[in-house]
Amino acid sequence: MKKILIIGGGLSGLSSAVFLSKIGYSIEIIESTPKLGGRTYSLNYNGIAVDNGQHILMECYKNTLEYIDIIGSRDLFEFQEALSINYVNDRKELFKFKIPKYFYPLNRIIGIMTFRLLKMKDRLSVLKFLLKLKINAANNFIDLTVYEFLRQNNQSKEAISSFWESLVVSTMNTTTKTASSQIFVDMMKIIFFTDKRSANIVIPKGDLSKALIAPAAKHLKSNGVKISTSERLISVSIEDGKATQILTNKRTITDFDILISSIPEYSLRKVEFINLNQRITLSKLKYAPIVTVHVWLNSNPLEEKMYNLVGGKFDWLFNHGTHISLVKSNALELAEMNKNLVIKIVFSELKKYFTILSKSEIKSYILLKEKYATFVPDLDSIKQRKSISNLIENFYVCGDWTDTGLPATIEGAVKSGKNVTQKIISNNFN
Ligand SMILES: Cc1cc2nc3c(=O)[nH]c(=O)nc-3n(C[C@H](O)[C@H](O)[C@H](O)COP(=O)(O)OP(=O)(O)OC[C@H]3O[C@@H](n4cnc5c(N)ncnc54)[C@H](O)[C@@H]3O)c2cc1C
Repeated sequence: MKKILIIGGGLSGLSSAVFLSKIGYSIEIIESTPKLGGRTYSLNYNGIAVDNGQHILMECYKNTLEYIDIIGSRDLFEFQEALSINYVNDRKELFKFKIPKYFYPLNRIIGIMTFRLLKMKDRLSVLKFLLKLKINAANNFIDLTVYEFLRQNNQSKEAISSFWESLVVSTMNTTTKTASSQIFVDMMKIIFFTDKRSANIVIPKGDLSKALIAPAAKHLKSNGVKISTSERLISVSIEDGKATQILTNKRTITDFDILISSIPEYSLRKVEFINLNQRITLSKLKYAPIVTVHVWLNSNPLEEKMYNLVGGKFDWLFNHGTHISLVKSNALELAEMNKNLVIKIVFSELKKYFTILSKSEIKSYILLKEKYATFVPDLDSIKQRKSISNLIENFYVCGDWTDTGLPATIEGAVKSGKNVTQKIISNNFN
């Protein structure tokens, strides 16, 4: 049986192991930290598991849903019956963006035309724009930022700032003025027009590790996959164009046939490739932070599960019942602020958007800053995400930063793991 070494135990590494283990390879995962999950993990705060950042999925995450089904954790997620997002502004007015359950794709029209956050003329222009995407009539987007592309497609500055901006920041972790319209267009088509359920939001019922990571580890172990943690890849030795030996901080390994790297490009750059004729050139991607504050309240008067804070210093508030989580993507300023200042902003935002929440009702909180949360899918990133796998015969690369066509997401990571599996199967069986 062929032996495969997978370097990195984040979602891309775990998913490549999950898809490959179905085929019957001997697999070992080598992860540098003591835990699995990479940038998708939960931590213990006063005995309660909280996530490093609220992760939301969508039903268009087809590869992720397949992964979830294989590891048997579908029951640990809550699936919206139809897309429904609450928007609240600083006048404490609530607007619902709600797509009816039936009559796809006409239900998209009803959803947009009844979305009162936007003026009627903006609702019409958003609708016209989405229809153009659906029939592939909005093609002139290469080398444009999302902002330029939206303006070119008659989106008003107001529609961009109240609707498009938050959609782009939340899904791409950067602003419309930086994000690539190519990735944006592909993503919008996938979200709105894959099928009738594709835009629905999927949220883990409990913590992330319990839903996405622990069941994968259990599934893999029961399928004979070896998982080694606290072990870091240092170098790869090449002979006749093939990887024949790796060195970790603990041992030298030679008994493998295929090597998969699922580590971020900034980690891969530190790995030494010995005897490789050609230099592996990994261009630098830019990264942006995500800041999350989990807040425990004396009592929780909020009724909805999630709120978009229109024009807020945080993008989203997620309501978990026992606690709430405020999330800011592309959090360049918040990530540099000290804890007291960030918490002050949390208090003032809660007061600004929800009368009922005041400082006295807050019991405790935890501030989490992920400084290198995701790469920035800007115009340059498209050129940087090229494949490097074909330099070494038995070496494959996956990860959310590889050329998946998607921004850095759970779906991107899982898709890259599945892509690698398919390449390995076709190279070894055809
Ligand atoms: C706060 C936050 C919120 C997010 N929200 C969302 C969301 O709502 N929806 C969504 O879809 N996505 C979201 N994402 C993005 C998503 O979490 C990532 O895209 C995904 O987890 C990346 O997985 P990966 O396997 O590609 O990389 P990673 O998770 O980075 O995994 C790489 C692994 O490799 C290990 N490693 C590195 N170097 C070595 C080495 N030399 N040897 C061995 N192991 C090594 C690392 O320790 C790590 O475990 C969010 C990310 C963050 C940080």
